[in-house]
Amino acid sequence: MKTQDLRTYAKNTWCPGCGNFAILNSIKAVLKNLQEEGTPLENVVLVSGIGCHAKIVDYIDTNSFYSIHGRATPVAEGIKIANQNLKVIGFAGDGDAYGEGIEHLIFAAKRNADITMIIHNNRVYGLTTGQYSPTSPLGFKGRSTPGGSIEPPMNPLELMLTSGATFLARGCSNNIEFLQNIFKEALNHKGFALVDVLQVCFTFYNMYQYYEKKVYELKEHNAGDYSEALKKIREWDYHNDSPIALGVFYKKESVTFEERLSGYRSDKKDVESGIKKALSKTI
Ligand code: SF4
Repeated sequence: MKTQDLRTYAKNTWCPGCGNFAILNSIKAVLKNLQEEGTPLENVVLVSGIGCHAKIVDYIDTNSFYSIHGRATPVAEGIKIANQNLKVIGFAGDGDAYGEGIEHLIFAAKRNADITMIIHNNRVYGLTTGQYSPTSPLGFKGRSTPGGSIEPPMNPLELMLTSGATFLARGCSNNIEFLQNIFKEALNHKGFALVDVLQVCFTFYNMYQYYEKKVYELKEHNAGDYSEALKKIREWDYHNDSPIALGVFYKKESVTFEERLSGYRSDKKDVESGIKKALSKTI
C-alpha cells in the first residue's frame, strides 16, 4: 500500500513559532505510520472545535469535521457510534475542551467512549488575542485580565482521571519525537484516551524556555496504578513551580461505551443480558 501524502492546499496561517506545528507534524507522522501498518486513511476521521488549534483539520488530507466551540468531543463520539470501524481523533484547545466543552469530556470519560482527544493546551485563548483560559496560572496578565487573573487554574488530568478516563498522558510541543510516541500509544488504546499537550502560544503566552527547564519524562512509573497516577498528576497543578512530568500517567483496559451499546443492540429486549454479554467478551 502506498502511503498517502497528507498535505493539503490550505495556506497555513498559524503564527511562526506556534506549538501547533509540533502537534501537526507529530500526528501526520503517526497517521503515515498507521497507514503503513495497514489502517487505511479512509478509516480515520479528525474532528476539531473552534480556536487556533482547529485549523489542524485543514492541514491534513483525510476525513474531517470542523465542529463548533466546545463540541469536538460529542461529535467525535457520534461518529464512532455510527461506524465503529473508524478511528476517531478529536482536537480541541484548552478553552474549547476545558471551558465550553468540559461537560462533554467528563461524560465521554465516564462512559469510556472509544475516541482519542488531543488537547492543544496553550493556557490562553489565542485566536481571540490573549484572554485567560481554564489552565492559565493565577495572576496571568492578558487582554481580559490586565491586572492578573484572580482564579487558580484547574488540573484537567486530575478531573479526567476521577471521571473515569482509561488513558491519560501529557506531551509538550518542545519535543516532537516524544509527542509522536504518546500519540501512537493513545491511538492504539481501546477506550477514552486524552493527551494534554503543553502547546506553546508563541504570540500570547510564550512558555518555551520555562517548559525547556521544567519538563521531564516519566520513567519507572506504573501507569496501571490509579493512586500512583493521581500522585504524579497532582505533582504539577498548572500553577506551582514543580517539575512537569511528560508521558503516560494512566492506562487501563476496560469495556467501552460502544461495546456496551452493541450488547444492548444485539439483545435489546433484555438490556441487562445484552450488557452482560458485551462485558463478558471484553473484560
Ligand atoms: Fe499559535 Fe498563539 Fe498564534 Fe494561535 S495566536 S497561531 S496559538 S502562536
